[in-house]
Amino acid sequence: METSIEGEERADGGGPGTVGVRAGTATAIPPASLSPSRASDFMQCPLLYRFRVIDRLPEKPSEAATRGTLVHAVLERLFDAPAADRTAPRAKSLVPGQWDRLRETRPEVMELFADDPEGERLARWLAEAERLVERWFSLEDPSRLEPAERELFVEAELDSGLRLRGIIDRVDVAPTGEVRIVDYKTGKAPRPEYAEGALFQMKFYALVVWRLKKVVPRRLQLVYLGSGDVVTYDPVLADLERVERKLLALWDAIRLATETGVWRPRPTKLCGWCDHQAHCPEFGGTPPPYPLPVRAPESGGAQQGRMGPD
Ligand code: SF4
Repeated sequence: METSIEGEERADGGGPGTVGVRAGTATAIPPASLSPSRASDFMQCPLLYRFRVIDRLPEKPSEAATRGTLVHAVLERLFDAPAADRTAPRAKSLVPGQWDRLRETRPEVMELFADDPEGERLARWLAEAERLVERWFSLEDPSRLEPAERELFVEAELDSGLRLRGIIDRVDVAPTGEVRIVDYKTGKAPRPEYAEGALFQMKFYALVVWRLKKVVPRRLQLVYLGSGDVVTYDPVLADLERVERKLLALWDAIRLATETGVWRPRPTKLCGWCDHQAHCPEFGGTPPPYPLPVRAPESGGAQQGRMGPD
């Protein structure tokens, strides 16, 4: 699953209590659950989390994230076919239909090509989606896979009451009962020093599966279609316990910020991809009025913006 807001929209699925504004009203409500994408947002920049979850500021669709959604849809749908028919040509043939479907369900994606009347950029973009789909066949053989689940929405409540949720791209279960969690990435594999950030999402899912099924997944697998890499990690219970402690600390910090209204910006080079510079004090902007009641911050509370993925 993608780590963009787009990916989060897939993860939230419109479910209740996840986001800051009730559908159809302007009433802001505090966040009630956590997904990997939003946890990563807070770790990257608390103010970005606020803009996305509390203020629900709109964001422009991006070519990369939209292509990720399209490729995910193609890979998922391919498993509808009998195993012998799960070929690269068949997968590529699904791209136009899934693009039509995406345009119907999310017409705003056409904004991406509003300045492309001849359709040349769109054609290149679709061709790149086909290349990503084709590359998958050099990494996995879908004719030999029978996923137990695809695009699986998962949600688990920790003892503290914190709800964790998200969508797992694929779950494979071996005849022995061993579970493998698979996530497709349409970007490139990160350098080794950044690999932990990518694995955080997978450990998050592993924690949810463990909480739901009392089974520690045997393997976590990231399939990077952009660079043709597969990254695996075999977690142990201690990994999941560590992630749970991390998420509880993160949730404490989010709750403190929600109650006090103090959401600190944390500028990094990732600001270049942030849609909210016009509202960000780091770029001379002003955040919109805070839509929730606030209390005075206490000294010595949880720190913002200092948490890494592990
Ligand atoms: S521009 Fe940077 S510092 Fe400002 S909200 Fe976005 S990510 Fe945070």
